[in-house]
Amino acid sequence: MWSNSAMSDALGQRPTRIRVDLDALSHNLRAIRAHVGVPVMGIVKANAYGHGLVPVARQLEAQGVDQLGVAFVEEGIALRKAGIATPILVLGGIFGPQVAQFIVHGLEITVSSLDKLRQAEAAAESLGRKAVIHLKIDTGMERIGVHGYSAGPFIEAAVASQWCVLKGIYSHLACADDPASPMTLQQLERFEDACAHFARIGAPLPLRHLANSGGVLHFPQTWLDMVRPGIVLYGVLPDPASRPSIDLRPALSLVSQVVYFKVVRAGSTVSYGATWTAPHDTRIVTIPIGYGDGFPRALSSRGQALVHGRRLPIVGRICMDQFMLDLGPDGSAYNEDEVVLIGAQGSESIRAEDVARLAGTIPYEILTGLNERIPRVYSGG
Ligand SMILES: *Cc1c(COP(=O)(O)O)cnc(C)c1O
Repeated sequence: MWSNSAMSDALGQRPTRIRVDLDALSHNLRAIRAHVGVPVMGIVKANAYGHGLVPVARQLEAQGVDQLGVAFVEEGIALRKAGIATPILVLGGIFGPQVAQFIVHGLEITVSSLDKLRQAEAAAESLGRKAVIHLKIDTGMERIGVHGYSAGPFIEAAVASQWCVLKGIYSHLACADDPASPMTLQQLERFEDACAHFARIGAPLPLRHLANSGGVLHFPQTWLDMVRPGIVLYGVLPDPASRPSIDLRPALSLVSQVVYFKVVRAGSTVSYGATWTAPHDTRIVTIPIGYGDGFPRALSSRGQALVHGRRLPIVGRICMDQFMLDLGPDGSAYNEDEVVLIGAQGSESIRAEDVARLAGTIPYEILTGLNERIPRVYSGG
């Protein structure tokens, strides 16, 4: 059922792997579309939130996603080299020396200042090919973009540009994860004020987009002409305060297998620093994944894993490549038994959101932290 990723080889695959359910991605895209009723830009930055950049983009493209979004030009180039033809917006700030790369690879540029507009124009003119741009308005992140209250001349310069095709205008929400935050509607108002400048100068309004996952979940007013969901596309909620207003299915599971079994005597300590002491004779299994894979060390003596449908505690510090689970005095498990770190087993499940809470971080960091040492295997699609 599971097809092998590029990491598999004749020696067989590492027992630790990420399973990505491409059908869950399609389901989430459909559910988001039905919920918002406007075009969707699927965000696939940071290796598609750990799910694998190219396979995810291919799946979304096959489902007719309207647009893709990445953070860096290198991610966009990787997609083009893989044959992805869907429009791609690079969301990050641009560096002058890289601008020509956008145009050569047919990537849409985020223009976040008048200077950057001039850089895009110069690169387009020297290549003899127009640049497709989206203007970035800062409405409260103070990250990149021209402040909404001083965007008039910026908008006018973009409208007048001979070498830039003005496709979109956008901003980014700082607090939309929380349905109770008043910041989102303030940001929307600032964005709409900036967009009103088009009418004042008699120019056609480009595509307006504002909503990230939080906006998609909680703020219909922010949907405008297109939405930019990232984490909900993968079936994960952005924040514990988020309302699950859409039926989402987690697309990623992280699984491993027992590599060692032993009995540990009462009073013996487990792992570096001897921070965990067996309170009684107990049975311990070793699992071959660690912080060197991006499995957070913060889960030391805090995290959990599923074995035989039972939820078991991680004991002692997580090592670079291994950690230990306590089966208890009567627990049993054998070498090669499946261990689920994120995902379902029997009637139990551990969500990326649970792992994030226990590790003291957000699910974004858990997912994007899972690195390329772990092979990805894909099903469905
Ligand atoms: C990452 C990002 C998104 C997607 O954010 P989620 O919270 O994952 O939905 C949307 N827009 C911009 C500009 C981003 O950087």
